Amino acid sequence: MPEIRNFCIIAHIDHGKSTLADRMLELTGTVEKRQMKEQLLDSMELEREKGITIKLQPVKMKWNDVVLNLIDTPGHVDFQYEVSRSLQAVEGAILLVDATQGVQAQTIANLYLALGQNLEIIPVINKIDLPAANEKGAREELRKLLGVNDEDILAISAKTGEGVDKVLDAVVERVRSPSVAPSGSPSLEGESLRALVFDSVYDDYKGVVAYVRVMEGEVKTQDKITFLGTGVSDRVVELGYFSPRMMAAGSLRAGDIGYIATGLKEIQQARVGDTIVIVRQIAGQPAVKPLAGFKIPQPKLYAGLYPESGEDFPALREAIGELQLNDASLTAQAERNEALGQGFRCGFLGMLHLEIIQERLRREYELKLVVTTPSVQYRVQTSDGKERIVHTPAAWPDPSAIVSVREQFAKAEILIPKEYLGAVFELMQSHEGELTAQEFLGEDRVILVYTLPLRELVVDLYDRLKSATAGFGSLSYEVLDWREADVVKLGILIHQEPVEALSVIVPRDKAERVGRRMTEKLKEVVPRQLFPVPLQAAVGGRVVARETLPAMRKDVTGHLYGGDVTRKRKLLEKQKKGKKKLAARASIDIPPEAYIAVLKRS
Ligand code: GDP
Ligand code: MG
Repeated sequence: MPEIRNFCIIAHIDHGKSTLADRMLELTGTVEKRQMKEQLLDSMELEREKGITIKLQPVKMKWNDVVLNLIDTPGHVDFQYEVSRSLQAVEGAILLVDATQGVQAQTIANLYLALGQNLEIIPVINKIDLPAANEKGAREELRKLLGVNDEDILAISAKTGEGVDKVLDAVVERVRSPSVAPSGSPSLEGESLRALVFDSVYDDYKGVVAYVRVMEGEVKTQDKITFLGTGVSDRVVELGYFSPRMMAAGSLRAGDIGYIATGLKEIQQARVGDTIVIVRQIAGQPAVKPLAGFKIPQPKLYAGLYPESGEDFPALREAIGELQLNDASLTAQAERNEALGQGFRCGFLGMLHLEIIQERLRREYELKLVVTTPSVQYRVQTSDGKERIVHTPAAWPDPSAIVSVREQFAKAEILIPKEYLGAVFELMQSHEGELTAQEFLGEDRVILVYTLPLRELVVDLYDRLKSATAGFGSLSYEVLDWREADVVKLGILIHQEPVEALSVIVPRDKAERVGRRMTEKLKEVVPRQLFPVPLQAAVGGRVVARETLPAMRKDVTGHLYGGDVTRKRKLLEKQKKGKKKLAARASIDIPPEAYIAVLKRS
């Protein structure tokens, strides 16, 4: 049996992960040069365009008779759990750092995850061909971060290919073979099958395909397998390797990385992190234990997705269904909004996840959508002793019944050049951040650790950090725990009538500001009536912001020219009375555009 090395590349976005993978494919002759298109492994159009890797195909290569299995880590915080499972499937990681950018927050976050999995880390500096490359600075940061010697750090250009052969050599030399147990842990070789699902996809022909790392034992075609976490069983229809396309084989053994196709139709049955075992083993004794770390990631963010035109609702329903085939983390629940009509309340892993889904619906399904301001979820305790999870204002209990509200907090690690310290302190303060640690990385850059409510983090903090630091700041985060929250439902009243579709959940001390912003916006977009219309924002019964939409001026005296002042005044008086009467009876027709302008996230 040939020797095997399993590894992944961890990097901040744009540091060259996909480009390096391309060079490796070429150098190892896995893909012929003339078949190479740039960033071969980034298969989605959107990924190519955004230059981000959402899913990189795993690939099996050969280098000097050693099998190298490279698998992906989706390098964005939204997909942290998926990253951690990828890391669990390998023994080594290339830590790739852009020489013009240096270490970034995501580099560090992924590094910690990798160290947590006991991986051998190979530090590599990329883009040394660029004039702006600062190899020396990057070396210093890596030495400080990893405690390694200068000789252990490789410097390459993934673009020109310079030094990439040395990286492959280092993978063979430094990463341990999967059959060698790390010191202090039991042997990885076992009799019975245990395979880790590190990804899963839905294939039109093959059904649900689990991407697996076989930890122990062996699995063959026709074996009856069980996913321990979800409890689902099925036969192996096909299995094999990635080259990088799927190539069928007869069996997968301990140490191998490959795929297992089953007859399953729902991706929710083959969850990332689950353990596959062979059925006859769990019937007998002793039972096979699942691999550590399995969980089902919960949405962190919810937003309403509505078709701009009501006719498109069935198309939206179908499109979301199709996306869910390949995305076990996307949740959707039909909901009605009196202003926007029928749509879905969708749950996302984070802002990037939301953007990806929104973009795909727009591009691949040509749907025009209104996406409402995203919200996190709250745990609301009511006086009847119940606790409910609420992530939409419509479901918010009556304030008089609320005993307490809790929300999730997060730990954010922010890495910035020191000259932006002031700006970032200010930014984080306005986002309720509490600084818990601060440390220099090298001479010019600082790591700041903050604790803050998730709601302040997920929506736009990343973008704001980027603009506060001229693009140099980077951020990663993890969710901590549930804590007491002082949030309220802010309602909007137009002409004294509550408009449920416009309510939002906000921190109590920001209610007034948000209310003012919304009423000002409404004043711009609600059409004028024959009478003045009050626009109010209220918490419970208390009005916190108010604007008045002035009456449309229709001069009834226009046809009376000349001197008859009394008659003119009489007419105006009459008009005033008429308006009052009208106002008392009127219900105001608010055009959908007005709702959209207020609800849409800017
Ligand atoms: P990823 O997000 O980590 O997968 O990064 P990519 O591989 O997509 O690379 C991001 C950008 O950097 C692309 O425009 C690449 O062409 C460019 N790039 C990657 N490696 C190098 C390199 O060694 N030198 C130069 N000059 N550009 C590179
Ligand atoms: Mg990429």
